[in-house]
Amino acid sequence: MTTLSITVPFHDDETIASYASRLAAANYASGVREFCGHMGLNHQKLIDGEPEEVARLMALADYELRSSDKRVVKRNGLFHEINGEVLARSSFLRSRLRHCPHCLAEDYENGSGVVTSRPYGRLAWCVTFIRTCPRHNVLLQLTERSSLEGGHDIAAMIAAWQRDPNVHPPAARCIQTDFESYVTERLWGRWDRRSWLDSLPLYVAGKMCEMVGATIRLGKRFVFDDLSEMDWVDSAQVGFEVLCKGEDAFRSFLEGLHSDFWDGEGDTGGRHLYGRLYERLAYESDDPAFDCVRAIMREVALSSIPFGPGDDMFGPVIERRFHTIQSASKEFNLHPLTLRKLLLKVGVIGTSAKDLTPDRILVPKDVVADVVAKYTSGMNWSKAWLYLNSGRTLWNTLTHGGYIPRAFADGHETGLGPIYAKSDLDAFLARMKTMVNQEFVACAKLTSFSKTVSAVLVPPSGSRFD
Ligand SMILES: [Zn+2]
Repeated sequence: MTTLSITVPFHDDETIASYASRLAAANYASGVREFCGHMGLNHQKLIDGEPEEVARLMALADYELRSSDKRVVKRNGLFHEINGEVLARSSFLRSRLRHCPHCLAEDYENGSGVVTSRPYGRLAWCVTFIRTCPRHNVLLQLTERSSLEGGHDIAAMIAAWQRDPNVHPPAARCIQTDFESYVTERLWGRWDRRSWLDSLPLYVAGKMCEMVGATIRLGKRFVFDDLSEMDWVDSAQVGFEVLCKGEDAFRSFLEGLHSDFWDGEGDTGGRHLYGRLYERLAYESDDPAFDCVRAIMREVALSSIPFGPGDDMFGPVIERRFHTIQSASKEFNLHPLTLRKLLLKVGVIGTSAKDLTPDRILVPKDVVADVVAKYTSGMNWSKAWLYLNSGRTLWNTLTHGGYIPRAFADGHETGLGPIYAKSDLDAFLARMKTMVNQEFVACAKLTSFSKTVSAVLVPPSGSRFD
């Protein structure tokens, strides 16, 4: 292939699209598409980062491009791959010019050759998570919509920007954040992946930092469109400070959002618990790359909030882990006050729970089921001695002597009378049967329970039970 007699330097941080556009400008083409047509290049394939087409372009400029060149952006469906990192279309903006005006001014000043071929588009400017220029400490600017939008003719877009004095507002001062530095390092393949955040695709990590930070700074009902670029700079940094500490920090952040629920406000739904973060992941995106985040949110919610069948948390909840007094009362058909007394009595809930409403007192589902089963299968004082057919006096002795435990002891604090578990009564009977030492006398009919117990529990010389 022949080489161009006029070329331009390919900058270390420049995109292929920018380079093609500047080559076109340097060679006096009216646009990059026309230039590609003349050179037998497929412009769309260049934009999509197809290696063979990119190599052909670079060969024209007598530039040997290695396959591992860090400046190549490869399009993969709705995503872009750069140095092993993945960015979604929403986080990689190159249809319009994002730029630092000071960098462009320097390009004009320091470059050589055709003026429109001097300034160039930086790869970092295409990444929406990077909002500042670390060289000049200003916010990047986005040019207005125009007919050039989507043409990927960077030189033409910069020339149009340069010609229009109305689109040169002063760039706001802004220091690049640690979050932006993190994104930049990953973008160029310079980050040593070690943390949970590192394990997420770059666009997922970036979006999560933004969402978590915005939630922390502005509340979980924040409105996307209300945030300025400066707000997003600050929000992403705040979120990064949390998420860079790992998955546990993310879990703690989520648990912190439960405070509204515990304060008695709101429902158990994901929208009420996590606000815009949940809405975004549940209703506005089905991207499976966020599934690991959804799984953590679901696990944190179901591990501490009384979700039950019929609820939804990134999908229907089919299993209950916790009951509230309210939900257990409904399921077991027990009055909430009785249930509260029972749980208080067995120590499953503390006295501090007295101040909570029934729908905010949480108990593990299996624990409630055990307590309720014990209670509903139990007998009060009079039913228990009738069940044993022991007679009142013997029953008094057995219970006061501790031979038969109380499943639920009475007490002033609960107002519950003593309850005896059928299983305890049956166990006592079984024990009596194994210890019988009197012969069975048919003519004497059945030996009374009182006599049997008397024979087993009391020494021969001792006093007899009734
Ligand atoms: Zn700059």
